[in-house]
Amino acid sequence: MLANGQVQLVSPRVYPLPINQLEDGMFESRFSGKLQKIARPGGYSSGSCYWNVEKHVNQHGGSKVNGWLLNWWPRLYTEAMHHAVWKSPSGELIDVTNDPYGSNEHGHSTFSEDESIPINLEFWPCIPSDWCYLQHDLRNLTYAFIHSCHARSVIARLYSQFVLQNGLKLDENGRYPGKPARNLTEKRLLEAIEAITLSIGGQINELKRLDVVRAPDDVTEQCPCGSGLAYKKCHGVASS
Ligand SMILES: [Zn+2]
Repeated sequence: MLANGQVQLVSPRVYPLPINQLEDGMFESRFSGKLQKIARPGGYSSGSCYWNVEKHVNQHGGSKVNGWLLNWWPRLYTEAMHHAVWKSPSGELIDVTNDPYGSNEHGHSTFSEDESIPINLEFWPCIPSDWCYLQHDLRNLTYAFIHSCHARSVIARLYSQFVLQNGLKLDENGRYPGKPARNLTEKRLLEAIEAITLSIGGQINELKRLDVVRAPDDVTEQCPCGSGLAYKKCHGVASS
């Protein structure tokens, strides 16, 4: 779930959480669902899941299912991000939103249904993620990163409510028409979102730089971090 900051997000090293990796008590609040591995075929737009699903239902039938997307940075954290997916007329759950970080190579998502949070598409919902940080040398940095992400979603929600109060509605793609900002408060809020997005990007780059594992002799072997991917596709990918 991304708000409409204009700064490109830096990709964290995240994968769909393998469903056997969820442990009891991993998340303290809200998230407590049963995990499902669902298809994420790609080829859709990114970061506007609620609107993507709505359009999909209008075009193809089926229905919208809300819940949580489980993203996992091996050894560092698991994030439960509020998300919507499409239930096809035959009852299959399909993620019709692209990975906001530009990668759909996994071909699936890890998802848990939860309809307890009402979603109003008049403004960007900005539901804060639920986080669980994992035991690792980098836990202090990871903790700081998670706090920055939380702060970003709080500011993004303020922005979202502000533009709603000023009579500006989201378009059918979940984006605000009429940029640039029309007044100082809106401009300041957008600047705050951009600033914290840049700062989060720096934190992600720092985590990537410090989160190293020893390369296996053969880089096509499984990565020692436990992601289940080949080293060359996981920690062996040079961070940009
Ligand atoms: Zn790895």
